[in-house]
Amino acid sequence: MKRAIFPGSFDPITLGHCDIVKRGIHLFDEIIIAIGENSTKKYMFSLKQRKAFIEATFKGNSKIKVMSYSGLTTDFCKNVGADFILRGLRNPADFEFEKAIAHTNRKIGQIETVFLLTSVETSFISSSIVREIINYKGAYKNLVPKAVKTEIL
Ligand code: ADP
Repeated sequence: MKRAIFPGSFDPITLGHCDIVKRGIHLFDEIIIAIGENSTKKYMFSLKQRKAFIEATFKGNSKIKVMSYSGLTTDFCKNVGADFILRGLRNPADFEFEKAIAHTNRKIGQIETVFLLTSVETSFISSSIVREIINYKGAYKNLVPKAVKTEIL
């Protein structure tokens, strides 16, 4: 079974994330969307909300699971039996950042990272921009899947 995790904060999940998962699923038997919990980080949406948004978005797709984790990503991979990490690349800054992490995860955990380039339609989207728009009550709905609702904030 070829299993990958797609780790991130998903605060909130965006159409950019969805694009990577939908294309990545053709490469793996199963993708676990892994919501990282960092106690020092402040989130706009609670873990429960972020998880609910993702579950609703991929409901009915048995190849896609949603879990949360804290600690080292490679330890989480071992715990769930995943040999691969899936990540999306939007620009050179993403690449520079991801490169060191991918090398490290291969060194310390023998985990291979697979990168997918973003689709042009979603390459400009980031959770941080979506949060900024939500903060100022702007039109965010075209940037996120339907399940993301700010009424519950
Ligand atoms: P992190 O806090 O780890 O950066 P994110 O939730 O922001 O977590 O992103 C998780 C993954 O999704 C990362 O690999 C990131 O590059 C990717 N990603 C984020 N936005 C997009 C996008 N618009 N298109 C493709 N990939 C994206």
